[in-house]
Amino acid sequence: MKKKIILGVLFILFIISVFQPRPQINYENKELPVQINKDQETQDTNNGLYWDHMPISYYITNEEECGSYETSQIKDAFNKIQSDTSNIISFKKIKEPADINVTCSFIKDCYIEHREAEYLGDVIIVNKYTSVCNHTAGLAQITNLEGNKIINAQINLIGLYGFAETTPKKGAVSGFAKTSCGHINTELHEILHVFDYDHVNDINSIMSPSGDQYLDNNCLNTRKEIDIWILQDLIKRYK
Ligand SMILES: [Zn+2]
Repeated sequence: MKKKIILGVLFILFIISVFQPRPQINYENKELPVQINKDQETQDTNNGLYWDHMPISYYITNEEECGSYETSQIKDAFNKIQSDTSNIISFKKIKEPADINVTCSFIKDCYIEHREAEYLGDVIIVNKYTSVCNHTAGLAQITNLEGNKIINAQINLIGLYGFAETTPKKGAVSGFAKTSCGHINTELHEILHVFDYDHVNDINSIMSPSGDQYLDNNCLNTRKEIDIWILQDLIKRYK
């Protein structure tokens, strides 16, 4: 009888752990300094704002705080857009305020390690698991326009506090790597916002407003490419 109860409780714990909702990363809502009506009928979410020169400069305003991991991810994302558009879009990293300014910050008390003791008669079971709060991974804003011409934009990238960048110790993982599986999905998403692409209601799109957080080993098939229609649209606009 006792054995049946223990098995029953373990089964219920298993069901609870399997069906816990996965936390979501939110990628903010873009706020434009101007309100523009857009055509709802087309997949084209671009409102017609554009950069009028190449290369577009970018500046990581707090590179030291960003750390080597995230600095490299940011560079990779800009390079990816450049190479995927066959250099029609090009970027230049500079060391002073630029066309696009990128800043890193960290969210505290979001990554939590839980330990729960279960007493099943004489048996103590300690359940250990980690969770991440729902949080915004990035923010992007076009901060200055002249007519439809984009003059400046700001990107904020948000990592978890308590990892390599904020709590350095040997072998520590980056607070940006912890929920990204090492992908540049968030960086690409935010850069495309400052090319005036809005959110797309398709979880597979790089412009999906939210995505699962890829905590720990949940990394299979989580890397995103830039949508073909976005690349084609960029090439058409800027060639
Ligand atoms: Zn977004």
